Amino acid sequence: MAMSEEKILIEEKMRIDIVTAHPESLSSMLGASIIKIARDKGIVNIALHNLHDYALDKYKHIDDTPFGGGAGMLIKCQPVFDCIGKLRKERSYDEIIFLSPDGEVFNQGMANELSLKRNIILLAGHYKGIDQRIRDHIITREISIGDYVLSGGEIPLLAVTDAVVRLIPGVLGDAESALEDSYMNGLLEPPQYTKPADYKGWKVPDVLFGGNHKEISEWRDEQAYEKTKNRRPDLLD
Ligand code: SAM
Repeated sequence: MAMSEEKILIEEKMRIDIVTAHPESLSSMLGASIIKIARDKGIVNIALHNLHDYALDKYKHIDDTPFGGGAGMLIKCQPVFDCIGKLRKERSYDEIIFLSPDGEVFNQGMANELSLKRNIILLAGHYKGIDQRIRDHIITREISIGDYVLSGGEIPLLAVTDAVVRLIPGVLGDAESALEDSYMNGLLEPPQYTKPADYKGWKVPDVLFGGNHKEISEWRDEQAYEKTKNRRPDLLD
């Protein structure tokens, strides 16, 4: 690759800064499979930031009890503002996202949209959550991965990171093109089969053998439509 092309590639990569109390829980997922490929190719740069590194006391406390009483601890303003403040001095961010069960529910459209951004921060909550002033004054967007509550934001931010990174051009090879996946055209994916053609008497549909691309495409469209109608009729609205 010529020097100038290499420079363009490096300048064009997406950067994801992850702010968390538990960076150790993320390393294996961020170092495997498609995310690893994207990082190795230099398409995405992912940096982990440990909130405990920003604690001011010698016990590295980042949480405290809620005003007004109640169970659980809340992540305090200071470590989050210090960490994100430092990052913002280094570059500007398109979005500073807090993962939260009361945020907008994540979907493929949001993944598509985020895959076009240049720099984003993902903040994971823990314990009972985070001080509201963080949400009011530094967060630009709040995302939920579904109507249930997990112990921390690490699994949600991994889900968002994976869904976004695989859509960045150059990450997936043609064979795994994301364009044919469920939700990309508003429908669920049709059934898929691989060899052998007959497994324990369960046969692959004949239409997939003829090599007639028009028929195969029509069959897949019909199957995708029927599956969507049965499982997710809301998508057809
Ligand atoms: N008290 C919070 C509430 O009722 O909304 C739940 C806190 S939860 C135990 C701790 C952290 O896990 C949250 O701050 C958030 O970062 C993350 N989390 C849990 N469930 C989530 C979800 N469905 N989507 C995104 N983040 C979630």
